[in-house]
Amino acid sequence: MAILDRILAPGSGFQKNFFFLAKRFVAGETVDSAIAAVRELNAAGMTATLDYLGEDVLERDAAIKTRDAYIAVLDRIRESGAQSNVSIKMTAMGLLIDDGFALDNLQRILHHAQRNADPFVRIDMEGSAVTQVTIDLFERAYANDKNVGIVLQAYLKRTPRDVTRMIELGARVRLCKGAYNEPTDIAIKDMPAIRKQYFELAKQLLERGNYPAMATHDRELIDEIRAYVRERGIAPDRFEFQMLYGVRPQLQREIVAEGYRMRIYVPYGTHWAGYFYRRVMERRENAIFALTSIWSK
Ligand SMILES: Cc1cc2nc3c(=O)[nH]c(=O)nc-3n(C[C@H](O)[C@H](O)[C@H](O)COP(=O)(O)OP(=O)(O)OC[C@H]3O[C@@H](n4cnc5c(N)ncnc54)[C@H](O)[C@@H]3O)c2cc1C
Repeated sequence: MAILDRILAPGSGFQKNFFFLAKRFVAGETVDSAIAAVRELNAAGMTATLDYLGEDVLERDAAIKTRDAYIAVLDRIRESGAQSNVSIKMTAMGLLIDDGFALDNLQRILHHAQRNADPFVRIDMEGSAVTQVTIDLFERAYANDKNVGIVLQAYLKRTPRDVTRMIELGARVRLCKGAYNEPTDIAIKDMPAIRKQYFELAKQLLERGNYPAMATHDRELIDEIRAYVRERGIAPDRFEFQMLYGVRPQLQREIVAEGYRMRIYVPYGTHWAGYFYRRVMERRENAIFALTSIWSK
């Protein structure tokens, strides 16, 4: 793991020379490239949420730089008229340094975002070591600023309670399966059981939640959700589907053509290697895709 960490570190030779491997999943290293990607998605009838890549920040300066990068990209979204909001990670805001400091960084972003046509800011959910503190900070921020929402992971055994709580609060939830390797005492490991819990929670959010986001590329789940909203008469503007940039683009377009809302999570920035690594570990075909792009770049 240490070797891998060194290879994937920002500024390493790998990072400098191998961006072409990641370009299917990462919208470039600059704000300009990110805005250009959002514009293309907008033209295809989709909205976006921009993620300035980086996580597990251990120095105050780095967290402040990340916060300022978000403030700059919010300005660019506003000036360009691109239809996008932003997604942030609390460890990138300095959660591992001091949670009060991370909350202050988050609140500055929330206040700045309030000038934008879409002022919404999503807090991504990270590994279980920070689940509770992320939810606590979300609730503290949400008490004052309602333009913030959270992500809940269907693979965690605690999540039904968290869904109930967020419905009570009227908070916006993005529901995903969960991307981290969690221990069996706190997480469901079996895919059919994760899918079952996802669908149960999705139904609750669709019936009683505040504009939930169904984040998945899983066609079986998407079909179940589509059938459920049709059967229950839930209008397509009461929720949105979300997918990752570069993942199942054909399915993204198919869902838009059916009249559903689709928001694409668009990561950008120089710290792309960790994100790229998670996508590759998720799906073997992504490694094959990346390797074949060596010959087609
Ligand atoms: C918009 C969005 C935001 C997310 N935010 C978070 C978050 O904050 N915290 C968190 O823990 N996780 C997050 N995730 C990741 C999520 O938890 C899953 O790890 C990821 O979406 C894979 O699960 P799945 O439900 O999409 O489908 P899976 O069951 O993994 O896959 C279903 C099918 O989709 C396709 N597919 C899925 N993933 C890929 C891929 N990477 N490349 C190519 N094809 C693929 C494959 O054909 C696969 O058979 C997010 C996902 C999305 C879409």
